[in-house]
Amino acid sequence: MSIIYNPQKYALPDRPMENFIDDNEIWSILKDQDKPTMEQVDEVITKSLQKQRLSLQETAVLVNASEPAMVDKIKLAAKQLKEQIYGKRIVLFAPLYIGNLCINDCTYCGFRSTNKKQERLTLGKQDIVDQVVALEDTGHKRLILVYGEHPRYDAKFIADTVKIVYDVKHENGEIRRVNINAAPLEIDGFKTVKEAGIGTYQIFQETYHRETYANVHKAGTKKHYDWRVTGLDRAQEAGIDDVGIGALLGLYDWRYEMLGLVRHVNHFEAVYNVGPHTISFPRIQSASGFEVDKNYEVSDEEFTRFVAILRLAVPYTGLILTAREPEHIRDEIMEYGISQIDGGTNIEMKGYTSHKEEQNLDHEQFEISDNRSLNEVMEELVGNGYIPSFCTACYRLNRTGEHFMEFSVPGFIKRFCQPNAMLTLAEYLEDYAPGETKDKGYQLIKDNLENYEDERFKSKLIERLEKIKQGERDLYF
Ligand code: SAM
Ligand code: SF4
Repeated sequence: MSIIYNPQKYALPDRPMENFIDDNEIWSILKDQDKPTMEQVDEVITKSLQKQRLSLQETAVLVNASEPAMVDKIKLAAKQLKEQIYGKRIVLFAPLYIGNLCINDCTYCGFRSTNKKQERLTLGKQDIVDQVVALEDTGHKRLILVYGEHPRYDAKFIADTVKIVYDVKHENGEIRRVNINAAPLEIDGFKTVKEAGIGTYQIFQETYHRETYANVHKAGTKKHYDWRVTGLDRAQEAGIDDVGIGALLGLYDWRYEMLGLVRHVNHFEAVYNVGPHTISFPRIQSASGFEVDKNYEVSDEEFTRFVAILRLAVPYTGLILTAREPEHIRDEIMEYGISQIDGGTNIEMKGYTSHKEEQNLDHEQFEISDNRSLNEVMEELVGNGYIPSFCTACYRLNRTGEHFMEFSVPGFIKRFCQPNAMLTLAEYLEDYAPGETKDKGYQLIKDNLENYEDERFKSKLIERLEKIKQGERDLYF
């Protein structure tokens, strides 16, 4: 029996800069689809494999499908979708913490204002230059700058730090795309930051559940749920159409957060005609003075399900996985459609130059579980047949909505993303890779070149790869 979907009528209609999340609505949808049949699960999966975004009701079917045979089908379908649409390319980035002053008191974060053990620091110009040089020297081209929320970190400060980062060129190194993870701003503030040439502006809602939100955000600006949930609407109004949403898993029921994220995507599509560029879903980690509450802990099994369902629910949105996750989890869920991961991450303030062996929770925001260097991550990706990419071509050619294009423009990945991934990989191999990685990387490029039947295109690509070997840089399609 077919389910009757009612995808577009929500309790709260979509209006720019107004709250769109209704707690009762989300719970009633989750309860309505309480015990899905295998037939219903199949029906929803079929729709997703036809490259259509799922409604909240359809997503709830997958979320409630907990029988092992259903979960297996969901994971298999996510793998299929990933392979058919995105191929084997994985974009790499690194976070850079600019300042940990904070007026908010998020219970889960080491930077919270009441954590007196945390050493407070804001990077000055030279500090930023030093960190960026260190990152460039490992091969990074894409950074996300991270800031606490504080009057000192206003829009002008953020814009200035972005410009400092873009100006750092060391040997063949340069940062070609700077993304931001910072507090929501006023529209004018977002305009200032946009003018500095940012890529994506990320704001995580943390939890879409209003009561839980109030319990974990008791002080500072962040206590205002509506201000935060409409933050990226203001970014859109300011002309930043490249935005990233996210939920911090472990604060509330993950099933609810899944529907909150999908509702957020629907909201953007309804109001701005474009969904978010990326979704992040960090699992909460222990932090200085904070132990994870077991009530809503998301197990490895639930987490892998979460990623597979999200891939199916929003097939054309980029999914980001971070170093908060241990290596074995990263490896598994990359198969379900992760499009970006961080590599060689250090979240200590000035961490890229401090060379400390031990993590120090009083210098960083929380614990991370993957401490591999960028080259170790590259080695592993290449070994598993992934093409690591530092590509920033779409952003610099003003091809915004790159994920949507990858997904919806036939041949886009083969024609643009894959060759650009190979070109940026070749740059990495020439400039930063030890001999063994270099050999493996060029073998991967050679294997992938064989997939190109169009001889004219293939020879253009080979020509550019040769130019990179001879010292030219920053070549893309
Ligand atoms: N201060 C800004 C804000 O709160 O939006 C931006 C920076 S904040 C450091 C970036 C993100 O770190 C938060 O949105 C939150 O999801 C995540 N985070 C905070 N504490 C965490 C923890 N204990 N484990 C995992 N992620 C955490
Ligand atoms: Fe401050 Fe952001 Fe940490 Fe909250 S999550 S305490 S706002 S840095």
